[in-house]
Amino acid sequence: MLDPEDAVIVNALVRQALVSTQEVMGENGVNAVLRSVGLERFIDNFPPNDTRPGIKTIDYARFNQAIEDFYGRAGKGMLRRIGKASFQYGVHEQGALMGVAGAALKLMSQKARIKFVLNAMVNALKKTNPQVDAWVDEAGDNIAYYESTCAICLGRHSSEPVCHLYVGSVGEAVRWATGEEYGIIETHCIAKGDKYCRFEVGEVKA
Ligand SMILES: [Zn+2]
Repeated sequence: MLDPEDAVIVNALVRQALVSTQEVMGENGVNAVLRSVGLERFIDNFPPNDTRPGIKTIDYARFNQAIEDFYGRAGKGMLRRIGKASFQYGVHEQGALMGVAGAALKLMSQKARIKFVLNAMVNALKKTNPQVDAWVDEAGDNIAYYESTCAICLGRHSSEPVCHLYVGSVGEAVRWATGEEYGIIETHCIAKGDKYCRFEVGEVKA
């Protein structure tokens, strides 16, 4: 198994997270958070859009924790908004590809659309970073997205799930693919001691 200290996030994903955080928190907000976790080097200097290692995953997890600490009780909602913005950024970056997918999606059932977009997320993540282990479980009553290498909660401990940013991204992906709002619940979280983080999509509409 990968030593957590060796896990990295690629530049493109760091960039995506920083652009999205700046969109939601403003420039002063993102700068304050970067300073508080010793990542000053990214202030006015977001990494390029490539797949070279950007930061240690453990630092990315600290960055997430800092946003939660910064906003207190509002932190969860803030992180969800950043997660939504992050998915939108990803769609924008992959414009042509997602345009084609969007047209094909119109012909599919709600369930097929959800499976399609979540598998696309898994594939996009794996393509940019071979360390990632993520999958979609389509067999149960509810479709669920899993990641056993979740970057948000690496090294963190909590009695409650903490991957609110991920919840926002999964929810926005499902909304993008179906045109409907589905509740997303993080039922398992590595920070709680589970083997993976699991994000369950609410009951599929007809
Ligand atoms: Zn988690």
